Amino acid sequence: MNILIASSEVAPFSKTGGLADVCRELPLALSRIGHQPMVFTPAYRQIRNRAATLERTDVTFEIPIGSKVMIGHLLTGVMPDSSVPVYFVDQPEYFDRDQLYQESGQDYRDNCERYVFFSRAVMEAIRLLDLPVDVIHCNDWQTGLIPALLRIEYQHARGYEDIVTLMTIHNMAYQGHFWHWDMLLTGLDWKYFNWKQMEFWGNLNLMKTGLVFADAISTVSARYAEEIQHDLGCGLEGVLRQRSASLFGINNGVDYELWNPATDPQLAANYSVDNWHEGKAACKTVLQREFGLPTESETPLIGLIGRLADQKGWDLVANVMQRWVNREKVQWAILGEGEERYHEILERLATQRPDRVGIRFEFSDPIARHVEAGADMLLMPSRFEPCGLNQLHSLKYGTVPIVRETGGLADSICDASAENLSNGTANGFSFQAYDADQLEVTLQRACDTFRTRRDVWRNLVETGMKQDWSWNESAQQYVSLYRQMRRQHDMLRQAAEAAH
Ligand code: ADP
Repeated sequence: MNILIASSEVAPFSKTGGLADVCRELPLALSRIGHQPMVFTPAYRQIRNRAATLERTDVTFEIPIGSKVMIGHLLTGVMPDSSVPVYFVDQPEYFDRDQLYQESGQDYRDNCERYVFFSRAVMEAIRLLDLPVDVIHCNDWQTGLIPALLRIEYQHARGYEDIVTLMTIHNMAYQGHFWHWDMLLTGLDWKYFNWKQMEFWGNLNLMKTGLVFADAISTVSARYAEEIQHDLGCGLEGVLRQRSASLFGINNGVDYELWNPATDPQLAANYSVDNWHEGKAACKTVLQREFGLPTESETPLIGLIGRLADQKGWDLVANVMQRWVNREKVQWAILGEGEERYHEILERLATQRPDRVGIRFEFSDPIARHVEAGADMLLMPSRFEPCGLNQLHSLKYGTVPIVRETGGLADSICDASAENLSNGTANGFSFQAYDADQLEVTLQRACDTFRTRRDVWRNLVETGMKQDWSWNESAQQYVSLYRQMRRQHDMLRQAAEAAH
């Protein structure tokens, strides 16, 4: 099948989180099983700076945005170490900027305009390049306009008749809410600005637009697919319940060519399930140095990686760190950037006990890998977590996840209860309520196990390392879903033709 994947970020070209990993790894997996994926993403500054590895096509876009016409170009390249084509929508006024979506905590004021342009450019590129496309796979609000554009403007044009759209939700908390006048930027008729389609409490909502117009919807774990229809839909629970027959949960996977301690070139020592003890010990020492911590091998080292946003449970972490920092002999290695208030709280803790709290406020892929390999445990007490990739990476790197039971964390991590240990399914520690006491008890349980029950610890590490969270299964599930969407589309089309 010819699958066009549209995303506002794609690793290794641009990345702020898991969306970028998925939009790199899923196309690679689809290509390995014989399909023809192609990826569309904006040409941000760091991508334009790599111009040597990109080619400029002769495609020029002239896209009406409100009352003006914006010109853009198309660059092409390939996903590294593959032949998967990547198309970069180049429009310097919109995309040649320091960051992807915001600076100093403030969203770019023209985000709606930027991604309307991107969405329209994707639709135009199909025609201009004469691309054979069976499915457009949209990801998050930045591409939410695409299903509406297809249905309203393009579906009857030659080459677009049989295209279907899948809208994948990577995070319901970011919906692309804009004031109503931004409806003018979309170029669509005001009649679509109603509570059943593009409007949400008086605003334009691009996530909702995608959910309403797409042929099918997916999200990145089965648990999150349930949760967003009830209490984690951030206001769109009703829309999702209405579409529940077309809503699917497909877990994200991990590309073990890219995330594997046996081959990861960033690690101080490579290791596998047969020699993880020595390998991780070497990585731990390097990590401790990198975070300014004493190189103590017996002290539990708790790693955290992630956006400093409410979602990730930093208030619980800060609460327990405050209780523990002078009391419990554990070390913390924290990598992240985001909201100022969390920077401040963590900074204070690090100043108080630099021998116990190490922090790097930055976005660094190599350091993320050092934490994955060098920490003993990885903490993710998220308020909600659509899938979560860090815990899947840490399973492979032999770092025991400690998670709150929500979304993909609940679907992937099995608590070290006596029962789960005896039936061989335990691969981490988990707790239910979003509560600092519960987190503390669970962390205590993990640290006690690390210190005094080495056989159980080994068991947890090795169970996790041997598990298969690769894309194999999930890529097949996407293909089945794409096929199902196409069948349904064909049936509807035939029925419509018969009716004429
Ligand atoms: P989310 O997409 O909600 O941010 P995920 O767990 O799904 O969270 O994915 C996070 C991805 O982003 C992982 O690949 C992780 O390594 C990476 N990541 C997050 N924060 C950082 C950081 N500060 N530096 C490097 N990589 C990071």
